[in-house]
Amino acid sequence: MGCIFCNIIEGKADASFIHKDDDVVAFMDIRPVSKGHLLVVPIQHGSSPEDLPEEIVTKTFETALRIARGVKTSELAPAGINLFLADGKAAGQEVFHLHVHVIPRYGDDGFHISADAWAEAPPDRAELGDTASIIQRAI
Ligand SMILES: [Zn+2]
Repeated sequence: MGCIFCNIIEGKADASFIHKDDDVVAFMDIRPVSKGHLLVVPIQHGSSPEDLPEEIVTKTFETALRIARGVKTSELAPAGINLFLADGKAAGQEVFHLHVHVIPRYGDDGFHISADAWAEAPPDRAELGDTASIIQRAI
């Protein structure tokens, strides 16, 4: 109740579908940042990758990659593609049903990825190594 993506999957809300199988669907984003911006969504509801079986998350990404290849060769003819997963509000997630954005890019298309940290001095090798160790211990 209240999940727009579950409503779309159940046919209770409109969407322009690209793909449907037993586990994953893909449909056009209704607020595209570029022409062809679409979402790849597992049918099973879960907000974060940890909420879903690993094979479902893997199939969602595999489907996103396959569709991205199709977008590249389509008449849209983008100059590039971004794949994007927002996991958590701090990461920009707005719909809390996992989804991978496939965003065709067209050169100067007005969609920007930036970070305040890029204006600062980059971390040195020791700091990068320390951070790498923190991540290594967790995987
Ligand atoms: Zn949902």
